[in-house]
Amino acid sequence: MDGMARLSARLPENAPGDLYVDDTCIDCDTCRQIAPAVFAQSARQLSYVQAQPADEAERRRALMALVACPTSSIGTVSPAEDVRAAGEAFPELVAENVHYCGFTSPRSFGAASYLIVRPEGNVLVDSPRAAEPLARRIESLGGVHTLLLTHADDVADHRFWHARFGCERVMHGADVSSDTADVERTLGGAEAVPLADDLRAVPVPGHTAGSLALLYRERFLFTGDHLWWSPRVRRLHASRGVCWYSWPEQLASLRRLLDLRFEWVLPGHGRRFQAPSAAAMRAELERALLALST
Ligand code: SF4
Repeated sequence: MDGMARLSARLPENAPGDLYVDDTCIDCDTCRQIAPAVFAQSARQLSYVQAQPADEAERRRALMALVACPTSSIGTVSPAEDVRAAGEAFPELVAENVHYCGFTSPRSFGAASYLIVRPEGNVLVDSPRAAEPLARRIESLGGVHTLLLTHADDVADHRFWHARFGCERVMHGADVSSDTADVERTLGGAEAVPLADDLRAVPVPGHTAGSLALLYRERFLFTGDHLWWSPRVRRLHASRGVCWYSWPEQLASLRRLLDLRFEWVLPGHGRRFQAPSAAAMRAELERALLALST
């Protein structure tokens, strides 16, 4: 954590007890994904403690959320000596060798980042917060060979990770700004680019002009802010409201994903989604396209 939650700013919605959320919450959804039994969204669209942890397992999830919160908005009334252990749970395994990094950054509005652990070199997808405890854990998993930046919004502390591990940073040239002018590799055009036998960078312009998805093993698709699962509409979703570049382009990029095989959608914002098969994922994508195109 870079800061601390303030008890004096505790939200009135919080259930009485040790754990609380203060008024600096930015509603990024991170805590609700990590510890849904404890955190919920209020009518004011802020997270709050809906129920204090009922057992040790729920407390551990809640403290993981505390560590992952980008704005240090979650606190405990009494000193939480088990916070350090909760932080060591990141990167947390999602499936196979794909991990969720936690430790989100306010610079990317709490976007999720992921670590693919592979013998040919680990890949970090988007930048977690610059946090030495996470860096030490990633070091123990083999460090970072490549940092794939899906788009300009989620680059956060990319310089820290490059300096720490000497990783090659890859992003699309259309999203490069003064903040990322020093990245080692920029991709161009609209065609997918193989980064390795099992990795393909797929341009998906729409949310931004240079948005990229990363396809790993034809199973995992890291989507940045291009596509995510929405519990509200109960399907894959993209948003016209947060489309900064071109909605028609974003729909066209979504349509092109029908040519790919994958079973997982792993977004920066929004919920992850696993379909039982590539065919089922394709059907979900078609369902989303139908809804989004009307
Ligand atoms: S992780 Fe922090 S900022 Fe994000 S919704 Fe929870 S309390 Fe709010």
